[in-house]
Amino acid sequence: MQIGCHGLVWTGTYDAAGIRHAVQKSKEAGFDLIEFPLMDPFTFDVGAARAALDEFGMAATGSLGLDESTDVSSEDESAVRAGEALLERAVDVLAELGAAHLCGIIYSAMRKYMEPATPRGIANSQAVIGRIADRAAQAGIKVSVEVTNRYESNVLNTARQAREFVAGAGNGGVGVHLDTYHMNIEETDMFSPVLDTADQLSYVHIGESHRGYLGTGSVDFDSFFRALTRIGYDGPVVFESFSSAVVAPDLSRMLGIWRNLWSDSEELGAHANAFIRDKMTAMASMSHH
Ligand code: MN
Repeated sequence: MQIGCHGLVWTGTYDAAGIRHAVQKSKEAGFDLIEFPLMDPFTFDVGAARAALDEFGMAATGSLGLDESTDVSSEDESAVRAGEALLERAVDVLAELGAAHLCGIIYSAMRKYMEPATPRGIANSQAVIGRIADRAAQAGIKVSVEVTNRYESNVLNTARQAREFVAGAGNGGVGVHLDTYHMNIEETDMFSPVLDTADQLSYVHIGESHRGYLGTGSVDFDSFFRALTRIGYDGPVVFESFSSAVVAPDLSRMLGIWRNLWSDSEELGAHANAFIRDKMTAMASMSHH
């Protein structure tokens, strides 16, 4: 199992210097991998990222949220095509980085919708995600769809919806990505969604209820980590946190990051790394019971 950190814990500026800084700080905080924000994979500096990963001996994954102009769950064919082209580029970037996972809100725009998703829009999204998963599989990359809260998408708000979505996304190779921050808003508990998606779960985000320090909010992490251990989960477990202390202009606005929940990224990251590893170690002892 790899324990990782979302890149926006460290900087909102993803030029070459920002990329190297984020990789270095993730390494120093004790993480195994960094999740790069690939909101614009066409401008992402692949060479700088590859060099930083090699320099610090780190693995990488990539995530993104689509926007209105690239919404693959739209009924507008031009938006669907633009979204597919963006996701194809994201796969190619990750292949160049030797990354094994693409995840996030890659099946719709990341925004508050004012109406429910339509059957045709969902079918469009499933078709694109199925093709992207095929392309990714050829490069050894697993594609996972992130279940998010109702204010960030209208397509996948629960693990059961995601199970149904991936079953209809063609090749059976699409995985489910669960995030404790979103689960805490939408699910009935933190245990059963993991069991419900045991065969599809391929990516995990660890976030607190206010997206700040782990253990200071209302997320029932013990139940969640117990469930991961119960199903023998072996995929990435990635810490995700946002504060107005680090601003990525588009993403911070869309996620509603208005408050300063922490200012010291190094302390926050080291704490999260220890928190996740301690929980996994403790839960692994259940095999002796
Ligand atoms: Mn997340």
